[in-house]
Amino acid sequence: MLGDVLETPPADVTIALAGDIARRLYGLDGALMPLDGERDRTFRVDTEHESRVLKIGNPADAPGIVEMQALALEHALASDPTLPIPRLHHTLDGLPTGEIDLDGARLGVQLVSFMSGKPATAGETSPTARRSLGATVARLDRALTGFTHPLSDRPLLWDIVRLPELRSKLTAVPAERRSLVARELDRFDENVPRLRRLRRGTIHGDLNPANIFFDDEDSERIAGIVDFGDMVHAPLVCDPAIAAAYQAFGCDDPVAALVDVICAYHAVCPLDPAEVELVPLLAAARCAQSLLISSWRVEIHPENAAYILGDADDSFEALGRLTEHDPAVVARGLLRACGLERRISLSFGDSLELRRRRLGPSLSLTYDEPVHLDSAEGVWLIDVNGNRLLDAYNNVPQVGHGHPRVTAALAGQARRLTTNTRYLVDEVALYADRLVQLLPRELSVVMFVNSGSEANDVAIQIARAVTGNDGVVITEHAYHGTTAVTAALSPEELAGRPLERWVATVGGAETLGAADAAARVEVELNGAFARLASNGEAPAAVLFDSVFASDGIFRVPPGYLQMAYAQARAAGALCIADEVQAGFGRVGTGFWGFAQDGVTPDIVTLGKPMGNGHPMGAVVTTPEIAAEFADRWHFFSTFAGSPVAAAVGSAVLDVIEDERLAERSETVGAYLREGLAARLGERATVRGPGLFIGVELDAAVTARAIVEQMRANGVLVGRTGAQQNVIKIRPPLVFSKQHADRVIETLTRSLELPR
Ligand code: PMP
Repeated sequence: MLGDVLETPPADVTIALAGDIARRLYGLDGALMPLDGERDRTFRVDTEHESRVLKIGNPADAPGIVEMQALALEHALASDPTLPIPRLHHTLDGLPTGEIDLDGARLGVQLVSFMSGKPATAGETSPTARRSLGATVARLDRALTGFTHPLSDRPLLWDIVRLPELRSKLTAVPAERRSLVARELDRFDENVPRLRRLRRGTIHGDLNPANIFFDDEDSERIAGIVDFGDMVHAPLVCDPAIAAAYQAFGCDDPVAALVDVICAYHAVCPLDPAEVELVPLLAAARCAQSLLISSWRVEIHPENAAYILGDADDSFEALGRLTEHDPAVVARGLLRACGLERRISLSFGDSLELRRRRLGPSLSLTYDEPVHLDSAEGVWLIDVNGNRLLDAYNNVPQVGHGHPRVTAALAGQARRLTTNTRYLVDEVALYADRLVQLLPRELSVVMFVNSGSEANDVAIQIARAVTGNDGVVITEHAYHGTTAVTAALSPEELAGRPLERWVATVGGAETLGAADAAARVEVELNGAFARLASNGEAPAAVLFDSVFASDGIFRVPPGYLQMAYAQARAAGALCIADEVQAGFGRVGTGFWGFAQDGVTPDIVTLGKPMGNGHPMGAVVTTPEIAAEFADRWHFFSTFAGSPVAAAVGSAVLDVIEDERLAERSETVGAYLREGLAARLGERATVRGPGLFIGVELDAAVTARAIVEQMRANGVLVGRTGAQQNVIKIRPPLVFSKQHADRVIETLTRSLELPR
């Protein structure tokens, strides 16, 4: 029954009995001192070396409540070991909690480390301290992700979502305060459906100042969060909203207190707009709830009035201050502060026109009916009208749009530190170290850049410095970037203009699709070197995109790179693998495109998926080449290799590993290719490695019509190849077989339409 526990006083445990329990269950001998508590009986136990807290559950609580708290502490610390929450001590039997029988009731017992510090007195915390609180609560909630316990769904009086059940206690509230509380109850009732739609989790539930300690030396740093007795399964945002509500108590500007806590929380554990919008309501609800519970309890326990009514004046005042503004205005301020304010949405026509005028004509838009986007999640792009489009095109969001682990890493590191690479920042070197573990042993030096183009540009600069030559060989219809040098290496964009004298090409689609591709490239490379020579140039590098995306998408033909690399090296050139498209598991478990042919390049360039949308790239090479380059050139790029990029890049690798995305690319890619091949039969050639798939059709007009038709049916794909007759499919790697089925179905139906 809701309220039972608050009506049952803490267990009647004397100091002597508590000492006996500590000895018997934990082998702990020490001086005991009772601590304050509304519900559980707690003692501080001081031994010679340390202090601990012994907690004995309330007789009206199932012993499992104490167990739930203990397991939650262990769960959270396993995920975030430096979280400032109590460490659990197991019983002599090695169990997380103990039990005792007292007066016919079975009570749970728990022993944890004692957390010292200054309690967070309401109204006395600085903005920095409140932000530190918000960030720590976010870490706690993030660390509790996935924690469940059967008792976290128990009815709990302090569960904010149950506020409407307290309406019966309204008569206990002093008459002069009643109308404000009643109004809050009404407002809450109206919003219950919105609350039901929010993401849920197991939350601390009672982040009041008595449960929060600041560091003795640094009064703006959180040293401890204690008392997990009100843990409950509830909308996640209740936790920061409750913490923020108490910070509003006695505060000159209660709305500013909300902003401090919520923004800092959001930076670590991103909130949705729907969650942030409800913070003012939830904070006010906590004030009302506190007034209702204390007014009712003091009637039952008048002897304990001072303790019970400790917060009542502050709650009432904060409730008044928080509700004197229009809640929509407060919510909008919070959204803006969190960077979540809905963009001013232009009409489609205005958006198109403004873009045309301000972004210039060299930037084309995809699709006859351009996609007017609002947001994205996972494999979905969401337009301003709320339509969800299946993203089978974008390979930058490799681990899915807006992956929470990536956005949390990004926000967290941006808040902590971002700077250039001329300082010692461990995360950056550790990330580089992690990256090279994924590459062949020889490639062990990383130079960070900001894009694929910059990576290729620097790679060419290195090859030229090391070889003393200028020439570069690429495939016929390659794309390698947009800088002056890499644009010259991108015939796809040259629109028939002649190549520079230092550029020569080898065959594209025809060679790559031939059974004897390796033999052909041998002949073609000789021809390319000869053409360079006739221009007075010698080769510095051969540069191949490992999925040959703009040539029409091909698996590396067997022996192709082996042959080309051997010849290039014999001619004194370096071998550069452009992994901007192919890298990071896109091609399957081999992880890198070049690995398909068992070669080791001299230089690998990375970009696109590396930061899942955060602009970052890298050039990875051997220590010898890096040293030769350093003899001739300094290298530095202001934003490249920032701590934020390192944090994001690491999070991307975490997700690729933990969600086994390279394996997924392999299996879902094979499924998609086989499904397309089976359904399309003679009408198309389906090819490509992993989740980088090309569907070659007879003509560009057919491919164009299909891409447009699929867009109209809510599936986004693109086109490539010298003839623009190859449908390009390269979705985020979190693509599932169901998503693949939708692509197969939509593509097949589009092809079958009469035209
Ligand atoms: N190399 C390849 C193979 C690419 O496909 C691209 C981009 N499409 C680039 C380099 C250039 O990357 P960015 O646009 O990040 O500069």
